[in-house]
Amino acid sequence: MRTTADTVIIGGGVMGASIAYHLSEMGFTNVVLLERKHLAAEGTGHSGALVRQHYSQDPLVQMAVRSVQIFEEFEERTGRAGVFRQTGWIKIGSAEMRAEMERLIERHKPLGVKADLLSIDELEMLIPGINTDGIGSALIEHNGGYADPIATTEGFADVARSRGIEIVEGVSATGIETTASRISAVTTSDGAISTEIVVNAAGPWSPEVARWVGIELPIKVTREQDLILETDDAALRPEYPVSDGLDRIYWRRDRGRLLAGDGHPKENEYVDPNDFKPTHDANFELEMMARLKHRIPGFADHAKVIGGYASLYDVTPDWHPILGRVDGIDGYINCNGWSGHGFKLGPSVGELIAEEIVDGNTSSIDVSSLGLDRFEKGALLSGSYAGNQA
Ligand SMILES: Cc1cc2nc3c(=O)[nH]c(=O)nc-3n(C[C@H](O)[C@H](O)[C@H](O)COP(=O)(O)OP(=O)(O)OC[C@H]3O[C@@H](n4cnc5c(N)ncnc54)[C@H](O)[C@@H]3O)c2cc1C
Repeated sequence: MRTTADTVIIGGGVMGASIAYHLSEMGFTNVVLLERKHLAAEGTGHSGALVRQHYSQDPLVQMAVRSVQIFEEFEERTGRAGVFRQTGWIKIGSAEMRAEMERLIERHKPLGVKADLLSIDELEMLIPGINTDGIGSALIEHNGGYADPIATTEGFADVARSRGIEIVEGVSATGIETTASRISAVTTSDGAISTEIVVNAAGPWSPEVARWVGIELPIKVTREQDLILETDDAALRPEYPVSDGLDRIYWRRDRGRLLAGDGHPKENEYVDPNDFKPTHDANFELEMMARLKHRIPGFADHAKVIGGYASLYDVTPDWHPILGRVDGIDGYINCNGWSGHGFKLGPSVGELIAEEIVDGNTSSIDVSSLGLDRFEKGALLSGSYAGNQA
C-alpha cells in the first residue's frame, strides 16, 4: 500500500468508489481508497437501488438528474453493460399528496426531469393486477428506474484502479492525524498514509471517523430490512420499480426476482452499526407479505419468499446528507448522512467531491446548503413527504 497520497478516501460504498472514479477522470490518481471489508459490503450492496429524481430540494434534484446522465453513460464509461435499467419509476400516493406531486412535477421540469401524473386507468395498464383502492395520486418519472448497486460500485472502482488509484480492500482506517489543524496522515490496520486530504465516506461509521478529528456528526443509524421474492409465473412480476406511499412499501425487480422493502412513515429502529442483526425478522416478512397482498394480490398469491436481510441507513435530523469541508480542519471532507436515499445520487456526488478536491469548489451544482454548519445555524432542510422521501 502507498505510504503517501494526495487524497485518502475512507469507505468503499458507492460514494467512495464514485469519488475515486471521478478523481481519475480528472487525472488525479495519487489516491488511496480504504475499504475495511470489500466494495459495496454494507448499505450499498443491500440497497433497493431505485433511481428517481423526484426530490423536494433543488440541489438533490440536480444531483439525481446528473446521476441519471452518468448511469445512462455507464457502459461507455466503465465497459459494464446492463447495470442501469431505465424502466421509469412510479410513485403512488393519497389524494392529499396529489397537489404536492403536481407542484414538484412542474418545479422539476426546468431542471430536466420528465414526469407525468398517472390516471388510475394508466396505472392499471402499467401494473396489471394492482389493487387501486385508496390511491388518490400517482406519477411516473420516465427517466428513472433501478440499478445493480454492486456492479455500479465495482464498475467505478475498476476504472479508477486501472488509471492508478489504489483501491485497498480488507484494510481499516484506524485514525486521522492532524498538524496545526491540517490533515497530515491516516493511520490504518496496515500502516500510515501521509496525506493532506481525507474524505469521510464511511456511511454508518462516519461519526466514528469524524470523531478522530474532533467533529461530531448528527447521524443516527437505523436497521432496514428487505425481502426477496420469487414467483413461478414471470408474467405476474411487476416490471416497474414503485414507491407506494400508501402501503409504505417499495418494490423493484432484482435479477428476475422481486425485492421489497419498508417505506416511510415508520418507526425507526436505531442500532449500533457494530452490533445489529443482519438477517430479516419473521414479523417483518409477515407484515410485508400482507402489504404486498393488499396492493398487488396476484403477484403476492403466487410469490414465495426466498431470502431477506437487514442493513443500515446513516440518518441525519433532516434526512438530507452532509457534504463538504468543515471550518477548522483543513483537508477534511464529509460525504455521509445519506439517510437511506443516497445510492442514486452516488454517480454525481463523486463528481462533486472530485471537483471540490481538484478545483477547491463544487462548481457544477451549488451544494452549500448541505454542509455540516446547517445544523448549528438551524438551517435544516425539509422534505415534501417526510422520512426518506426527502
Ligand atoms: C435496505 C436499503 C435500501 C435502500 N434503498 C435505496 C434506494 O432504493 N435508492 C437509493 O438511492 N438509496 C437506497 N438506499 C440507501 C443507499 O444504499 C445508501 O445511501 C448508499 O449506498 C450509501 O453509500 P455510502 O458509500 O455512503 O455508504 P456504505 O455503502 O455504507 O459504505 C461505507 C463503507 O465504509 C466502510 N468503512 C466504514 N468504516 C471504515 C473504516 N474505518 N475503514 C475503512 N472502511 C470503512 C464500510 O465497510 C462500508 O463499506 C438503501 C439502503 C438500504 C440499507
